[in-house]
Amino acid sequence: MSFKSQRVAMVRDQIKSRGIKNADVVRAMLKVERDKFLPQTLVSCAYSDYPLPISCGQTISQPFMVGLMSECLKIVKNNSVLEIGTGSGYQTALLREMTDEVYTVERYPQLLERAENVLESLGYDDIHFKLGDGTLGWDEFAPYDRIIVTASAPSIPRSLFQQLKEEGRLIIPVGGKYHQELKIVVKKGMVSEEDDICGCVFVPLIGKEGWEE
Ligand code: SAH
Repeated sequence: MSFKSQRVAMVRDQIKSRGIKNADVVRAMLKVERDKFLPQTLVSCAYSDYPLPISCGQTISQPFMVGLMSECLKIVKNNSVLEIGTGSGYQTALLREMTDEVYTVERYPQLLERAENVLESLGYDDIHFKLGDGTLGWDEFAPYDRIIVTASAPSIPRSLFQQLKEEGRLIIPVGGKYHQELKIVVKKGMVSEEDDICGCVFVPLIGKEGWEE
């Protein structure tokens, strides 16, 4: 089966059939070539229903989890979106399909460089990349309409909440090292409205306002 047919099947069997309906998310997942973001040895599994290893001991999330997080963000065209944990860059590409202004932070230079190259080769030439500790956000372009964290934290990093706009949405897995709850946080003044979406397992968010190395 061609990658295109595998992508169509993935969206049908793993995304739509499990309740993800947002038209922008579905369109983006049909378009973005997930196989381009994987190490060469794993491209044959690119559309499989599970997470996969990338380099530096990190993972690319299961397609359904990527779709679910994207849907929960409720991105509106022209929203500014900050992503923490660029990893392979796959989620970054989806975000850029859904809005014009995307910022992404990664702590491993090797991953950031590879993601930047892949994204550029696919024509995404206006994404903003930063190497550093994403638990501190990216102050320079704050506040953001949406923030998505693709690694798990012991608690919600204060800096990320601060860099969210009023009524802005933050999605983040919070909990222990081996199991977390996916949370959506909406900023209402100085307080936050929090909802639990589901249980999940992510690699740790390592940094000043996350886990220690
Ligand atoms: N969204 C990615 C998932 C990558 S896994 C994808 O689609 O491939 C999570 C990523 O978060 C890893 O690349 C890890 O290095 C990164 N990460 C962990 N702690 C971080 C921090 N404090 N700042 C930035 N990135 C971090």
